[in-house]
Amino acid sequence: MSKIAVIGAGISGLTTAYLLKKKNHTVTVFEKSYRCGGYIGSHNKNNFTVEIGANGFLNNEPRTLELINLLGLTDQLIESKTESKIRYLYFNQKLRKVPTNPKDLISSDLITFTSKLKLLMEMLFPPKPYTSDDNPTIFELFKKHFGEEIAENIARTALIGIYGGDAKKLLAKDTIPKIFKIISEHKSILKGLKNQFQTNKPATLMSFKGGMQTLIDRLQSELRAQIRLSTEVASISNENSKVELLISDENNEEETISFDHVIITTPFEAALDLMSEVIDETNLKKLSRYLAAPIRSLSIAFSKKIPFHGFGVLISPAENKNILGFLHQSDIFGNRAPADKSLVTVMMGGDFKPEIMSTSTQNSLELAVKDLTDILGPLPNIEQTWIWNHTPGISQYTHESQELFQIFSSKLHEHSKNIHLNMQSQGGVSINDCIRKSFEISQKI
Ligand SMILES: Cc1cc2nc3c(=O)[nH]c(=O)nc-3n(C[C@H](O)[C@H](O)[C@H](O)COP(=O)(O)OP(=O)(O)OC[C@H]3O[C@@H](n4cnc5c(N)ncnc54)[C@H](O)[C@@H]3O)c2cc1C
Repeated sequence: MSKIAVIGAGISGLTTAYLLKKKNHTVTVFEKSYRCGGYIGSHNKNNFTVEIGANGFLNNEPRTLELINLLGLTDQLIESKTESKIRYLYFNQKLRKVPTNPKDLISSDLITFTSKLKLLMEMLFPPKPYTSDDNPTIFELFKKHFGEEIAENIARTALIGIYGGDAKKLLAKDTIPKIFKIISEHKSILKGLKNQFQTNKPATLMSFKGGMQTLIDRLQSELRAQIRLSTEVASISNENSKVELLISDENNEEETISFDHVIITTPFEAALDLMSEVIDETNLKKLSRYLAAPIRSLSIAFSKKIPFHGFGVLISPAENKNILGFLHQSDIFGNRAPADKSLVTVMMGGDFKPEIMSTSTQNSLELAVKDLTDILGPLPNIEQTWIWNHTPGISQYTHESQELFQIFSSKLHEHSKNIHLNMQSQGGVSINDCIRKSFEISQKI
């Protein structure tokens, strides 16, 4: 059995450590923050349940359901409400409902008649599939299949909801691999999706009765003695087939501990710092501004119901609003807010407006309320607010970041076979992706 260090106690680090512990390895998790969870966590106050970052996960990843089952949390799961199927995009100064079936699409004002014809043409005469050398952005892919209007108004706006990033920079192969696979199998995206919906029930958004914190709390209690909070790993080095970690605790006391294997689950920027002794960073650092999109999430509890029904709204970058969009939490899961009140989470920043991260809380609240009022009309009184900054934020799979990741991982591999990466910088950013990758890495060791 090996002695293993896991750096970072977000969902990736906790899941990896839990699975390795189950295989009887001796595991220690180092987390620089005072709390576990990274971008996941919930707060409960005055009958509001507020998510710090991630809101839920889709029930289409078997590994996530397996983990929940192993942890005995299946009876804590909740499904999103039917209201949450109602979603909106905002462009040309108007809220536009996203159709949920082909009949609604025909009468929808989401796209023009010309674009509706393009959808039909894509099914009948799909464009030539990509070769293995092609590496289009999401915008280029959607433009090729459905024309510029759909690429700009739909793909570019919808992508903000997951990546806070720009479809004109994000690579399709890395960011939406399932769509890329559909094209290689069916040529037509629409035909492939239709096929999938006929064989599989569409996935449902899930969470836990007590919020996403439930998952973190259970993992933390399984690992309790093995987690060292407020302990930052300062550097990693290789010594005689062992890996040495220099750690620093909350009192700035330093210690060096050696392990058989080390698994890095931190954001990419932190991993670059950790390996600075062995990897020449000069070239890599130049590219590092392309790595992630920071997000400021601002949750607002209103004293009455707001004039809106549905999951939420994503706003087209062309609108030049201060906010990227918002989630209407009280319509997504039950018991997130008292029945006569609304809870809304506004997302700000992203790749489009990273400068918002340095504005004051009061200023961003004013900007958010102004945008919400423009879109929804007059709002009830605000009862409470919660604000969180997520930096570095959501990994962006762009040409630059993928090049950087490749240089980094191949140099790391040359340097040591016992240092492993399990980071959101590759293989997907969703909770499902993080859990799937954690299963993969724990099986490899
Ligand atoms: C605002 C927001 C909303 C999101 N919403 C969703 C959603 O609804 N559904 C979904 O599926 N996904 C969502 N995501 C994505 C998902 O939450 C993240 O990709 C995922 O939680 C990342 O987990 P992780 O463990 O890989 O990384 P992180 O959560 O970043 O954890 C890494 C940990 O490493 C620690 N660390 C860093 N450096 C060091 C060091 N030197 N020493 C020790 N510890 C260190 C950090 O403190 C952190 O705790 C969202 C992300 C954000 C930002």
